[in-house]
Amino acid sequence: MGRSSKDKRDIFYRKAKEEGFRARSAFKLLQIDQEFRLFDGVTNVVDLCAAPGSWSQVCSQRLAEHPNAHIVAIDLNEILPIPGVTILRGDITSPTTIENIINACEGNKVDLVLSDGAPDVTGLHDLDQYMQQQLILAALTVSTQLLRPGGKLCAKIFRGKDVGFMYSQLRVFFDDVIVAKPQSSRNSSIESFIVCQGFHLPEGYPPILIDSTQPRYGLPPTTDSVLVPFVACGDLSGFDSDQAYLPTHNHSLLPVAPPVDPPYRESVVNLSSPPLPFFERTMKIKAISRLTPEK
Ligand code: SAM
Repeated sequence: MGRSSKDKRDIFYRKAKEEGFRARSAFKLLQIDQEFRLFDGVTNVVDLCAAPGSWSQVCSQRLAEHPNAHIVAIDLNEILPIPGVTILRGDITSPTTIENIINACEGNKVDLVLSDGAPDVTGLHDLDQYMQQQLILAALTVSTQLLRPGGKLCAKIFRGKDVGFMYSQLRVFFDDVIVAKPQSSRNSSIESFIVCQGFHLPEGYPPILIDSTQPRYGLPPTTDSVLVPFVACGDLSGFDSDQAYLPTHNHSLLPVAPPVDPPYRESVVNLSSPPLPFFERTMKIKAISRLTPEK
């Protein structure tokens, strides 16, 4: 959860800190759940691309009452511990990582697969959309391996020009595919979320491990284009994520979960011995960069 000037004005960025969530994304999942009751009848969840972990925090809170609840979270980046969540680290587009996720589920089928996956965006929309679709394909692979019949998949999607093909592929595996735009997701962002319900494997389709490094994915062919409903969700008369609000308390709040292994760690650690706590170190770096004129 970075601190650009835009983020500082964003009401959901601040509310996340106030409510102890590690990222503002938590509100997107909560608002999708309000509309679709995602957690009804759910005890086993896989949360893909989960760092820093706000969606897993929501899952952990929602399933706290279930003694047999099992939540598995995975990301390329390290995730700090969350009560009741098994944490893995890896690239979800790799078949080996998918095998690790399957093993972590200990032979149980899951009721819900979540994926908030986004690549590091380049600004080249076609490329960004292609990379993001690889994450959806990985989420679909995990779903074909692990979802129980009737299970659900909720995944971030970039709505670019070729998105219709992705909807058709998803409709092969799910009875119901809807695109949701939670109110906490900025209108200026191309992200939305596909909510897929009623999972089933097509007849004669073996749940294979899709290797996205191979040119053919092995998904069943689709010919029909499908119309997918679009739903705005969350309290539409509530806070607007594109608007700037003046904070009621004019002081910044510390991050709920500071970055575990940020790329700047090495230079920060070299600044002091013994290492300072995160916040002091950040302040020291800011102070030094003010003293060092840019070349
Ligand atoms: N849902 C998270 C939360 O609530 O805290 C936020 C997820 S963040 C928007 C997107 C995440 O996707 C990043 O943490 C990134 O590391 C992860 N990601 C991107 N590509 C990935 C990949 N190939 N395998 C695993 N994680 C990936």
